[in-house]
Amino acid sequence: MNHKDFICLKEAIDKKQKILVSSCLLGMKINYEGKAHPVDELQQLFRQGQAIPVCPEVLASLPIPRDPAEIVMVNGERKVYNNKEIDVTEEYRLGAQRTLDTARTSGAKIAIMKSNSPSCGCGKIYDGSFSENLIDGDGITVALLKENGVRVITEEDFLDCIRK
Ligand code: SF4
Repeated sequence: MNHKDFICLKEAIDKKQKILVSSCLLGMKINYEGKAHPVDELQQLFRQGQAIPVCPEVLASLPIPRDPAEIVMVNGERKVYNNKEIDVTEEYRLGAQRTLDTARTSGAKIAIMKSNSPSCGCGKIYDGSFSENLIDGDGITVALLKENGVRVITEEDFLDCIRK
């Protein structure tokens, strides 16, 4: 997380601004396996009314559970394929657009998104080989949020920030 992200997050917390948060980090059992990744400190933000839950994949009406998917480059374009080699790019783009719409509606200028996911990953994502190798890059939703001026950090960045 860079210094500007740090300042922006601190300010958002102090001023009780709305913050977009990946729903699985708030304890909702909605990931591809039907599991959650709860973070106590984020659940507290939710109870205080500050965290706006978003799950791009649920917003795109993908089922729970669902087949895992990863981002791959095809002819210079970022696409999303699941582990059955089905192209699910359109669903992931729809989820990204609906998440951006939620950011705009709520006024959130910062988002805390689940690391490594093909939708929510920020800075690191899986390499498309379904072998848990990470490469530099953003998930489909995070890339769209950043392109539209929403600052994005991971849950790990958030925990580092509040513990300083
Ligand atoms: S799309 Fe994002 S919010 Fe939804 S389960 Fe995956 S990581 Fe969590």
